[in-house]
Amino acid sequence: MGSEALTDRRFERQRRQLIETIRERGIHNLEVLRVFDLVARHLFVPEGVQHRAYEDSPVPIGFSQTASQPSLQALYLQVLEIQPHQKVLEIGTGSGYQTALLGHLAGHVYSVERIRELSARARTVLDDLRFSNIALLVGDGTIGWSRFAPYDAILVAAASPDVPQALLDQLAEGGRMLIPLGDRMEQTLTLFEKTPEGMRREDITACTFVPLLGRFGWAE
Ligand code: SAH
Repeated sequence: MGSEALTDRRFERQRRQLIETIRERGIHNLEVLRVFDLVARHLFVPEGVQHRAYEDSPVPIGFSQTASQPSLQALYLQVLEIQPHQKVLEIGTGSGYQTALLGHLAGHVYSVERIRELSARARTVLDDLRFSNIALLVGDGTIGWSRFAPYDAILVAAASPDVPQALLDQLAEGGRMLIPLGDRMEQTLTLFEKTPEGMRREDITACTFVPLLGRFGWAE
């Protein structure tokens, strides 16, 4: 067996282990667990940290940014209850890993990233994997992506002092959004649901994310 095949097998074993860890951390939605098996996380992180790709922890991806902790990403997907026909907006493409998970779960995925190089790298990997339902945009995600609104779900993968109003406006009736709200050190992952009676808000868990930098986030 060639060394590449051996490496692939090692990654496959590590991926199974990661899914087990995610399950132990309370993720029971089978669709969510299944997509973690479908997407090879090591393809989305820089070569120097590929050996850490299947740890349940954030991984540095350059430009002072990190790929988020997998079990936390799984929690996003479980809480948002994403359905196959839905249109989803992601703020903070980063490595593109969560974007790929969304590509398997949702109908259409729109993802905004402020760092051009990260978006370009994500595009290359997503194209190699032949995703055709994912659109990427380089820009300030605190103003959302109005062109394709409204969205059934919005995921914000960076921490904000307040919820950007544009994102609430771009949420469909019945839609759900998850965003880490708090200071730069610690945040609360917060769920917003647009109901006929108004906006429902619920605290989900404590978390730590890199800052959301932009017009309606932290100052750049
Ligand atoms: N889900 C990604 C998380 C990356 S970290 C992953 O697992 O790889 C958060 C990302 O949000 C960073 O890449 C950062 O550059 C980006 N970001 C921060 N502020 C932003 C903004 N206003 N608009 C778009 N992206 C932003």
